[in-house]
Amino acid sequence: MAVRNISDVNPNDNAAPLEVRVIRTWQPFLFQNEHCYLFVDSRGDAIEAYGNRRDKALFESKFSVGLCYRISKYLSKKARNSHNVVPSNATIHLGRSTIFEPIVGVDIPHQYFNFMPYESLRARENMHFLLTDYIGRFDRFTSDTRTTSGKRLMKFLLEDANERFIEVALWEEIADAVDKEALVNTPFPCIVAVTSMKVLRFKNLQLASTAATHLYGNPTIQDVSDLANRFRERYAGINMDDRYTLPIANILAKNPVDYMEVKFSCIASIVSYNPRRSWFYKGCTVCKKKLGSREDALICDDHHDAPQPKYLYCINCTIADSTGNATVTIFDIPFQSVIKIPCNELVIQ
Ligand SMILES: [Zn+2]
Repeated sequence: MAVRNISDVNPNDNAAPLEVRVIRTWQPFLFQNEHCYLFVDSRGDAIEAYGNRRDKALFESKFSVGLCYRISKYLSKKARNSHNVVPSNATIHLGRSTIFEPIVGVDIPHQYFNFMPYESLRARENMHFLLTDYIGRFDRFTSDTRTTSGKRLMKFLLEDANERFIEVALWEEIADAVDKEALVNTPFPCIVAVTSMKVLRFKNLQLASTAATHLYGNPTIQDVSDLANRFRERYAGINMDDRYTLPIANILAKNPVDYMEVKFSCIASIVSYNPRRSWFYKGCTVCKKKLGSREDALICDDHHDAPQPKYLYCINCTIADSTGNATVTIFDIPFQSVIKIPCNELVIQ
């Protein structure tokens, strides 16, 4: 029987063989009794396949991720809206009798991505069934912690070709699978592709991992060399350690919306203090947030049992360098490092 292209597979048609490479595998979050695979064909189109989870060992004795197979005796079904790893209206159901014949010497891509540009992300915000592939320059890890429920949450920043940064949040085993050292030590520029992400918004836009997420460092696709060249041009002559240390005028000229996640530094002098603004506040000893008053007592919304409030600096002042000036608020530890007196002491004095 002739081989069918993935783009020609329709729900419930008779199963003409497919020739594909198995690209990825994952355990879907919503369908705990299933296991999923991603297949791509020689034209670069991809389709999702799934089978019963209890047959996972059987399937994986018949095929391996990364290799190519002629697949027959499968069922084509309508794609479910929870399965939008690829834009396709059909999905492949693998059964115990599905046949996988290894094929070699075929020209089938090793990877499949459906990258969305930064401009398209906002339209996908909080649409949890619409999964997004994204590519950018790995900038740095911003945190790696456990949430109060004990779940690992790793965050890093990706920069796109137009200097826009987005936070990527990887949860649990997706984070565990990341080789942090390899990313940090990759020679500049380290291009990272993340697949099957949800677009969320907390303070800013964020890409959050799903069960189907995979992360690829410098994947071997054309987009990567194009992107890498753009970053090489942009950062030519810039010391990467100093790239966020800028004169005040340059920082003020930037559009805040595109730099929400970036922390800048500048070398400047404090030229005046604002005497009309309070220079300290009563903060929570645990999180340093300003305490709210509740029935004659000062308490933190998050830490009701925290001991004695603490006096903390919040200095409102103007800083200047040769390019301009800016109004800033300097909080506790940085200001203490300047004047060498803890806020508590100065308030008592
Ligand atoms: Zn607190």
